[in-house]
Amino acid sequence: MANVNINTKCVQGGYHPGNGEPRQIPIIQSTTFKYDTSEDMGKLFDLEATGYFYSRLQNPTCDYVAAKIAELEGGTAAMLTSSGQAANFFALFNICEAGDHIVASSSIYGGTFNLIAVTMAKMGITATFVSPDATDEELDAAFQENTKAVFGETIANPALTVLDIEKFAQAAHRHGVPLIVDNTFPTPINCRPIEWGADIVTHSTTKYMDGHGACVGGAIVDGGNFNWLAHADKFPGLCQPDESYHGITYAEKFGQAGAFITKATAQLMRDFGCTQSPQSAFILNLGLESLHVRMPRHVENGQAVAEFLERQPQVGYVSYPGLQSNKYHALAEKYLGNGGCGVVSFNLKGGRKAAEAFMKRLKIAAIETHVADARTCCLNPATSTHRQMTDAQLAACGIPAGLVRISCGLEDKADLIADLAQALAGIE
Ligand SMILES: *Cc1c(COP(=O)(O)O)cnc(C)c1O
Repeated sequence: MANVNINTKCVQGGYHPGNGEPRQIPIIQSTTFKYDTSEDMGKLFDLEATGYFYSRLQNPTCDYVAAKIAELEGGTAAMLTSSGQAANFFALFNICEAGDHIVASSSIYGGTFNLIAVTMAKMGITATFVSPDATDEELDAAFQENTKAVFGETIANPALTVLDIEKFAQAAHRHGVPLIVDNTFPTPINCRPIEWGADIVTHSTTKYMDGHGACVGGAIVDGGNFNWLAHADKFPGLCQPDESYHGITYAEKFGQAGAFITKATAQLMRDFGCTQSPQSAFILNLGLESLHVRMPRHVENGQAVAEFLERQPQVGYVSYPGLQSNKYHALAEKYLGNGGCGVVSFNLKGGRKAAEAFMKRLKIAAIETHVADARTCCLNPATSTHRQMTDAQLAACGIPAGLVRISCGLEDKADLIADLAQALAGIE
């Protein structure tokens, strides 16, 4: 569906039924697929023919939905994974091995920070974290001979910093490596990083793409623009024969448009098996069908809530890139013309006690370790995800004890604001 608007791609992309075929994407609830001859199946194992043989590697339902996500991001190929964590791990591990190095923005999701800083370090892959505000010189200084990828988040969870995608992409390309961008928060409705120079895009589809808090999932999209063979010495996994597939060289056989996703499917899905179930993919697709309708409402509610909170005497500061006062407002205007997302964070002057009292009084916003749901939810890191830390430790890492992250859902914004107002009134 190359020539239609992204709104139409949300509804009809990825799956194009023929005459008499199901209108909705069929859930192919089958682990395996039947063949008439061993020769037929052998061709699949050798990657000589395309087709399905075992749902750990590929399943038609998942592939329809991945194809839709590829269209939405303007990529050439995509795959679904079992979670956003699996998507980010696969995107990095597909081109990094022991002895390699990653340059990553320090302003990223805590789970991804742990993945890169702790777990991948145990695999012998080291990382240098850079400020999202780093200058070109600071970025250049972070690269090493063995650097294989640059990683960042379009809008970071939970810091809500906005990545200067062009700056990070140019730095990556100066050093002959791709930029991988986690685009979970804006979704392709509000930003398409490939258009700004990113090479690989990842998603936690658990968030807005699903949008209803129904299924954990992830996705990886290849923009098809990175020339692996031009940097063949850095990417032997893509540019040298894979002995586990009879000596296939992915970058040659599948080209720039297909090599990355084919390798990640053939090797990483085969060996790690972080696959999404066809049931989950079906539910994810129901979310995608309304993504373009939902995102503007999430943004409208986020903006209204942020503007309301900024005027309240109990609130120290509000972080939301859509606010004029926000440090990232200019970048948001550049990359997020339609607005970013519905997640807002703000600091209550009264600290931990005020946050606890405030959240207890909320009637519409529920306390959850989640964001990007149709239902508004909120979290105080000091009393939940970061509760082992002292107030001083929290302040040092930019998460003051009174910080509340609120993910504005699809309810009426007047009701959300009234709920916040009555809860704030109780802590005066
Ligand atoms: C939630 C999240 C993840 C992790 O995704 P899961 O689906 O929970 O594994 C990664 N990146 C970002 C930006 C997220 O918000």
